[in-house]
Order: sequence, then C-alpha cells, then structure tokens
Amino acid sequence: MTSKTSLTCEALLKKASTRIDSDSPRLDAELLLSHITGLSRISFRAWPEREITGAHAEAFERLVQDRVAGRPVAHLLGQQEFWSLPLKVTASTLIPRPDTECLVEVALDLPLAQQAQVLDLGTGTGAIALALASEHPEWQITGCDAVAEAVALARDNADALGLTVSVVQSSWFSELKLGRFDLIVSNPPYIPDNDHHLMEGDVRFEPASALVSGRDGLDDLRLIVDQAPDWLAESGWLLVEHGFDQAEAVAGLFRARGFKDVETRKDYGNRDRMTLGRWFSGAAVIAPAPNRGDADAQ
Ligand code: GLN
Repeated sequence: MTSKTSLTCEALLKKASTRIDSDSPRLDAELLLSHITGLSRISFRAWPEREITGAHAEAFERLVQDRVAGRPVAHLLGQQEFWSLPLKVTASTLIPRPDTECLVEVALDLPLAQQAQVLDLGTGTGAIALALASEHPEWQITGCDAVAEAVALARDNADALGLTVSVVQSSWFSELKLGRFDLIVSNPPYIPDNDHHLMEGDVRFEPASALVSGRDGLDDLRLIVDQAPDWLAESGWLLVEHGFDQAEAVAGLFRARGFKDVETRKDYGNRDRMTLGRWFSGAAVIAPAPNRGDADAQ
C-alpha cells in the first residue's frame, strides 16, 4: 500500500521527474499528471500537497513507465499544441515541433493577396495549414499528404477546430488538380537515412516517411524545389523547412532552379531552419525593360 504522503501531486511529480530521461522531465510529468487528473499544471504549483486518488496515481504511473521507455508525450496524450491550437496526434505522422511555428511566422509576414491560394505539402496533422487558416480564414488553403491516415487526421483536426482547409491525399504534387498557388509551404522529411538522431528521442516513434529522405536528407526537397514552379503563381513563394546544416544546399537548389530573392531564416534556437524563394516565370524576367533584370539578380 502506497503511503499517503507519496500521493500528493508534488511527491508524484518529483519522483516521476527523476525517472524520466528527456530534455524536460518535470514538464513531461506535469503534462501527464494533468492529462490523468484534469487538473491544470498551475494548480500543481499552487497546491503541491493536493492528494491524488489511488486510481489516478496508478494511471499516472502507467504513463510514466511509457514515457521512461521513450514514448513521446504527444503520443501518450494523443495531442500536441501548435500555434496555440490543440492538435490530435497519432503515430501515423510527425509530431508538430515548436520550431515549425517559425515557418508559420515567416509565411504570415509575406506580402500575400487577401484571398491567397496556399498549399501545405506533406501536411501531417495539418499543423501548418491550420495555423495559417486560424490567422487568415479568407485564404484558400489546401493541405496534402501521401499517407491516408494523415489525411484523415488533418481533416479531423480541421473539423475539431472549425477551420476550413481542403485536405487531399497526394504524394507531393502527384495527385493535385491543376492550380496556381501564391505560397507553397512544406516541412518535408529531411533527415539523412543513416543519421544517429534517428535512434534518439521522439523520432524513434515517428514514421520514417515523415522524417527520412535519402542519403543526404534532400531527396524530397530536391523534388519539391524542382516541381514547385509548375504550381506557383507568378511571383509566388516557396517556403520550406530543412535541417540546421542544409541551408546552403537548399538555397543552392532554389537558385539552380531559377528562384529569386532566396533567403534562409533561423528557428527559435538560432539555427538555419528554413529557406524561401520567389518564382518569376521566364516571360516576366526576360520580357520587361532592359534594366529590370538587374533588380532581380542577387
Ligand atoms: N525537425 C525534426 C527533428 O529533427 C525533423 C522534422 C522533419 O524531418 N521534417 O526531429
């Protein structure tokens, strides 16, 4: 029989925190206990001596054991917050990362038309598309994903949040109906297939299809950069997330394909994390007045 004192919130959280091996053991424990009890994390601080029922303590212990075994908090809760939106998460897709919110910030800063056509390639939970829809309900936003479960999940998330995003099953552009987008965003898989990070942390529990992309991690980015111009409106933007050490390679792909105004931006940890560029069709670049070309050259 567990002694009474060990059933206070603080005692449970303290013990669990010492067992969980992650970057944020205390936070993980608080999120799990909050999930089980329905109590807020703030209440654990305000009332650390509050007692937890035996049934709740046992349910918490099961989650802690799963977390100690490495299972991501998002999978244990079935949920992850992104851009302040509670998103349902399953093992069929990537868990949205805080750094991807930087991609959303950059997208929101672009000078886009009021009713912009936007495409989120490889939408997964729908995180990027839904964050954009929450800020700009008037944009026409499409999300696509090759994985049927991800398509269903993104639709569920859109319904639950009351946001309008059209979600289609498509491996990158393959199944899309002809269209021209003012902005194409993507957080594609970009980890090299032999990268040691794949053996550590949450990624062990996420599908390879959402993470891994060939020997240098750039296979999908190459395809996206190559095909995006066929789907971009005149002067439309392509904005992609990539690995912290891939900026030069990705910017090189953009320039080689003919994108202009190519720039790399940083994530919250000050690492090069995304690259964007603008597409001007050949006609627009070649046809205008002679000195126009210089303005585009970088
Ligand atoms: N940034 C993620 C990680 O390193 C990977 C995301 C991705 O491949 N798109 O955990």
